[in-house]
Amino acid sequence: MLINLSPTPPDAVMLAARLFAEDPRPHKVNLGIGMYYDEEGRIPQLAAVREADHRLRSRNRPWPYLPAEGLVDLKNKAMPVVFGEDQADDLRRRTAWIQTVGGTGAVRIGAELARAIAPDAMASISDPSWPNHEAIFRAVGARVSSYRYYDVESCDIDVDGMLEDLGRLPRGTVVVLHGCCHNPTGFDPTPAQWNHIAQVLADHGLIPFIDLAYQGFGEGLEADAQSVRIIAQSCNLIFVSVSFSKSFSLYGERVGLLFVVTESEAQAALVGERARAVSRALYSSAPSNGALLIAEVLGDPQLKTTWIDELDAMRRRILLMRAELVDQLAGGNRGANFAPIKAQRGLFSYSGLTRTEIERLRVDHAIHAVGDGRICLAALNAGNLPSVAAAIRQVSSR
Ligand code: PMP
Repeated sequence: MLINLSPTPPDAVMLAARLFAEDPRPHKVNLGIGMYYDEEGRIPQLAAVREADHRLRSRNRPWPYLPAEGLVDLKNKAMPVVFGEDQADDLRRRTAWIQTVGGTGAVRIGAELARAIAPDAMASISDPSWPNHEAIFRAVGARVSSYRYYDVESCDIDVDGMLEDLGRLPRGTVVVLHGCCHNPTGFDPTPAQWNHIAQVLADHGLIPFIDLAYQGFGEGLEADAQSVRIIAQSCNLIFVSVSFSKSFSLYGERVGLLFVVTESEAQAALVGERARAVSRALYSSAPSNGALLIAEVLGDPQLKTTWIDELDAMRRRILLMRAELVDQLAGGNRGANFAPIKAQRGLFSYSGLTRTEIERLRVDHAIHAVGDGRICLAALNAGNLPSVAAAIRQVSSR
């Protein structure tokens, strides 16, 4: 049988992961993939999650299918985390939801629903963005465009350019926004800028699609959801995709949620019904274990406090790594060019390193990053930071 298939190029992040896996050098460092590692270089098992796991096991529960929409307890406990403790009952009633296979699943199901709701709508994605945004919207058959987000000259967010581009989009365009910790740049709008963005979205009849994959890693759990809460005040059709992979350090459990805020309870019912049909045709229902763990943590005030503290500790450790890396790079040829790393938030830094420099890091120093210069600072620790900094100084001084 002839297989009529041309090679499929991996996206930039997957390519970096593959090159890292294939690198036999024992001292290799992985700054490519977006995972948080602790000071010992391990993916942490959060104490709150460990305790929840212990409790779940002691109950000797069976493992039934989850209902088509997922674990309602997870939704009920997560909604206040995203939309605020004081969310109005009205918002809850007009919000459709579905549990998904990670944040990726939430973006995919959301993209499918957006296509069903507004079949001719284009999707507009920040330039740059997580490469899977474009891949997902193309996979559902949407046309894709981009809006300005990052200014290479000033190494900063370009909110004026963004607002200008959003203002020119046709009504009904789906605008993909990073709720916090923009991947890859690490630059987020301020609350005042989110207000402007929300105004333009509402004035121009655009459909915000907020991807919230790093809540808690930017300025903190509450501050990082301001984008959602501000936009929810102005727009009456909003997609919010949530990933719990990083915030609970439960990457492989694949826990995500999609919320679709609509205008009425009747609309929410229609959207929810379609969401369940989409998920049914993809994988039937979402997996249960991670969802049960998270619902257990969020449902117990003490465990929830422990989790918030642990999340904050991860956030603060990354900030320390940012400061330390910038300090160690300061004396080099291009030291000043790395100063913006300190102002960025989240797991990543858009380091400004060129493709050639990233390649040199990999070939000469076994340090792996994404070709566009994105480095994952959450993989740095006191042990590997000095050698990473030295290598960056070396490759960037040529
Ligand atoms: N959105 C963005 C912006 C991300 O960076 C990621 C993870 N890399 C996701 C969504 C997907 O999250 P998950 O791993 O939970 O599928």
